[in-house]
This record gives sequence, structure tokens and C-alpha cells, in this order.
Amino acid sequence: MVDFPLPMNTAHFRSIDNHAAIHSLDEVVYDHEGSLLEVHHPLDGLQDRSAAQWKDLFDKRAGSMDLVERSGVWGKLEWVLPQIPREHVVTLAEGWNPLLPAPRTAARLGLSDLRLKLCGTTHTGSFKDLGMTVLVSWVNHLVRTGAPIRAVACASTGDTSAALAAYAASAGIPAIVFLPADKVSLAQLIQPVANGAHVLALDTDFDGCMKVVQELTQDKSIYLANSKNSLRVEGQKTVSIETVQQLGWTVPDWFVIPGGNLGNVSALAKGLDMLYDLGLLSGKRPRIAVAQAAAADPLVKSFEKGLAPLEAQTARSTLASAIRIGNPVSFPKALDALKRYQGVAESVSEDRLADAAARGDLEGFYNCPHTGVALGALEQLVEKGVISRGEKVVVVSTAHGLKFSEFKTGYHQSTLEGVDSRLANRVLRVAPTYAAVQDELRKILG
Ligand SMILES: *Cc1c(COP(=O)(O)O)cnc(C)c1O
Repeated sequence: MVDFPLPMNTAHFRSIDNHAAIHSLDEVVYDHEGSLLEVHHPLDGLQDRSAAQWKDLFDKRAGSMDLVERSGVWGKLEWVLPQIPREHVVTLAEGWNPLLPAPRTAARLGLSDLRLKLCGTTHTGSFKDLGMTVLVSWVNHLVRTGAPIRAVACASTGDTSAALAAYAASAGIPAIVFLPADKVSLAQLIQPVANGAHVLALDTDFDGCMKVVQELTQDKSIYLANSKNSLRVEGQKTVSIETVQQLGWTVPDWFVIPGGNLGNVSALAKGLDMLYDLGLLSGKRPRIAVAQAAAADPLVKSFEKGLAPLEAQTARSTLASAIRIGNPVSFPKALDALKRYQGVAESVSEDRLADAAARGDLEGFYNCPHTGVALGALEQLVEKGVISRGEKVVVVSTAHGLKFSEFKTGYHQSTLEGVDSRLANRVLRVAPTYAAVQDELRKILG
């Protein structure tokens, strides 16, 4: 623990419960007396530039040809990790994820605007790249400056391990990943294998893997890469900053985001906080809706009881396997985010999430099941009148559908348990003759 005041312009860890308890980022530390840490950026150092100057700078960097400046994360490095020497940054061109309009879905729901922030359009296919570039860059910096770190480790529902393995491989640092055996998609399993990580499949669920990795990383030479490590949140918070920038420095009325371990919703809110604190935004704040699968919905249960303390669950099986988490590590941060942004939490059935993903696909998207959870929650919140007609909504799409081919195939073959596959689109098996094809097309086109 650091007991002298740090220079005010230096980002540092601090306890979310006791802001006076601070640690240098050089320390290998993930909590303070049981309380989560956050990376705190003293505003003094950032107020040298006006809001207009920050906007200019960020807009200019977006058009840069330099990989680091052009990164959606490192283009905002003063707000993310100001101390990192540029030569230690490990980037795989993360960020600048498309923000695509979904006008037909918007019209169907009566919204004035709906956009999907496609965080899965990225190197490893999920938003986890945003946080992992920061964490691995910092570990790279520590290692290059002589810290005795042997490896980086994480527990994962599939996407964190893929991101860790890729960034660690790029930096040449060994990675160890723990996966719940048979509970991740084939693509997610093979990603860290291909990138040379040590892949350990455990006969348990994510929460069980998390317990093991927390014990393992008591050994400080093995660095923890889960979002309990608040460096991850620093990169992930650029999702809201970037979205606001893409909207011409304006906000939607709502963000809808799927939540599992709840690091990402905390990050979304933290990015918004900085925009308001530094004057890039003012006035009305957006609201946040966290979407969970009904099979793993501890935040929804808490929300229904007026933001009650966490009651950990044993998460049940869900198609949205990356958010199958019953004991979310970042729960306290998420609760706080809901309070600051008038948040709500909504749970979605397997049937609803699968249909919602498929309906979105019919507008040209290729939604992962977690994005289906978010889209399903959006539909329900509109039906309930929580989200009003005429409002503007951004849905955070967290992964690429290509990572979830089993889900997609199962839906369209109507083989998913508990799912009616109302929008199943069958492959037509036709004899290889012009006559047979014509016959078939007459049925379709009339
Ligand atoms: C990790 C992940 C989530 C959940 O993010 P949390 O920070 O754990 O809440 C949602 N969707 C996908 C695809 C993920 O990989």
C-alpha cells in the first residue's frame, strides 16, 4: 500500500469502499481488505485540456495510421493508463467497433433510434479485447522492467481466455487459462489452444474455476487477468466513450448491455462518468439496462428487491454461456453503476433470447446469444413501458456470432432445448436440375 500522496496526475488503484486506501499500479494487488479496487484518475491532471480539446484530440487520433493512436483504447491512453511507455503497449487493433443502426427493429419497437455497438467485430471476436490490451500491456511493462512475473492466468466462460491467450502470445508472455469443461463453444475452446496458452479444463462451472484461479494467483508471480483486476475495466470503459464519440458526442436515452461477472456494465458507467466529470457531456444522463439470462440472474434478483445485497446462485445452463455466472465478482461496482445511471435489470428466457437474436439476424446482424439476451430484454422493457416509445437506444453486442455456430445451427435446425425456433430457416435440399430449382423457387417467390 502506498502511504504517501502520489503525484496527482498519476492513475492509481484505490479501494471502492475507502478512497484513501491507494496502491501503486506497480503493485500486484487485486483487492484491499476484501474490497474491490478501481483505477482512479485524478481529474487535476486531465483538466489541462478543455472538453473541446479532448474531443479534438480523440477525433484526430481516430483517423491516424499509427496502430497505437488508432486503437480505440490507446487513442484515449491519458484516460486509460497514462503511465504506460508506448513501446510496452501490446495492441491488436482493438476498439473502433462499428455502431450500426437497426432501423427495422427500431420501427417495430417504436423507438426513434436503435443502434448495435458491435464489440465482437474485433481480433478475438468479443469485447474482452478492450480490457485485455490494457492488462497485458501493463504486465508486459512490469516484466520488461524486471518484475518477477512468470505467467498471466484467468478463469473464463470462453471469451476472456481467447483474448488473454492472443494478447499474451503477442507479447511473448505465458498464459494459463481455466475453462469449465464442456461449457464453452468449440471456437472459444480452440482459440487459446491455437495461441499456445496452457488450457486447463475443470469439471466445474465458471464460479468454480474462478475460485481456483484466485487461490493460484495468491502467488504473485502469476498475474490475475480476470476483471476483478481493475486494469481490465480501464480498457472496457472506452466502449461508452467511443459510442458517445460515434454519436457526435451525444448520448442515447438507454444503453442495454448483457451482464455476467458484471465488469462490463461497471466499465460502461465508468467511461460515462469521465465524460461528465471532464465536461465532454453535460445535462441528461443515459440510463442503463443490464440484461441477464433467467438461468443466471443474481443482479436481476437484487434489482427486484430494491438493489439488495448479492445472493449468489448456482447458475443453470443457458445458451448465453459467457454469462453463466452465479456469483459475479464485480457485483458491488455494478450496483453502484445502476444507482448512478437510474439502472434496471431484466432477465430473459432461453426461448426469448434465441428468437431475439434470430430476429436481429434478419436485419443483417449475426448475433451471439448474449446479444440475444440484450435484444430480448430490450423487447420486454419496451413491452413493459420502462423504455418508452420514441427513445434512443444503444445495445452493446458483446461477441461475434461466428463464435457460437452450435447455437446458430441448433436454432435453425430446431434442436435447442426449450426453444421453439419460430424463425428457423431451413436449408432446402434440391435435386441438381434446372426444373427442380424452378419448382422450388415458384413455391418461394410465387
Ligand atoms: C464476458 C462476456 C459478457 C459478460 O461481461 P461481464 O463483464 O462478465 O458482465 C457478455 N457477453 C459476452 C459475449 C462475454 O464474453
